[in-house]
Amino acid sequence: MKSPFPLHSPLPLTALALALALCSTDALAWGAQGHRLVGRVAESRLTPTARAEVDRLLASEADPTLAGVAPWADQLRATDRDLGKRSAGWHYVNIAEDNCVYQAAKHCPDGNCVVEALKDQTRILSDRRNSDAERAQALKFVVHLVGDIHQPMHAGFGHDKGGNEVQVQFNGRGSNLHSVWDSGLLNTRGLDDTGYLTVLQALPQPALARRVDVRKDAEAWAESSCRIAVEKGVYPTSRKLGDDYTDRYRPVAESELRIAGERLAQVLNRALGPR
Ligand SMILES: [Zn+2]
Repeated sequence: MKSPFPLHSPLPLTALALALALCSTDALAWGAQGHRLVGRVAESRLTPTARAEVDRLLASEADPTLAGVAPWADQLRATDRDLGKRSAGWHYVNIAEDNCVYQAAKHCPDGNCVVEALKDQTRILSDRRNSDAERAQALKFVVHLVGDIHQPMHAGFGHDKGGNEVQVQFNGRGSNLHSVWDSGLLNTRGLDDTGYLTVLQALPQPALARRVDVRKDAEAWAESSCRIAVEKGVYPTSRKLGDDYTDRYRPVAESELRIAGERLAQVLNRALGPR
């Protein structure tokens, strides 16, 4: 069929680029606000030592805060194609088909999944023998991946690409289940980051391990996200999702953001703390 647009018209390209940009953010993670909120929660929990090291490593960033760098890894496909390609698999792990039991050999044989990437990047960040540039990049990945590993659809089913292929109507608009969990549920608040941070800070203090060790804990975090993804009701029986879905699952998404932020602080306090 003939294109409805005249040849060389910039319009279709612009529209296509926009559509691709929207698709790629949708496919990758908590929306930017979710990631920034994880960073904001963590900022408030850093020890002075970790705080100083974060400030030093991020000094050359346009927004040198955890929140400021949190969405960076989702933008790589536009800003650094090689790294974007290499890290494309680091945002998720599909374990729902296996009863949410993570097996490295089966689910992450090449290390390119969120569990192993989070371990690897934390190790690079912790090691003072690495250059500041290497450690700063690792810090940006860690901030992002701790967020992703707490998004249930990032540890869900492989057959539907973590809900990306489950088309739904959310509050009257076409979407997919992954995107609803990335941003749809959160957007129903209509809050800016500072307003939303107040909501998250008002939640009860989550029960946290006293000491985190990403090498052991990352897979438990993914498994617990997966158990949310497979809960009855998360996959809706009807395509139309409305207020009842938001009422039930927005608190779950918000609790995940709060826990992710608290755990991110624990990870950084340990990785950047006194030896
Ligand atoms: Zn991501």
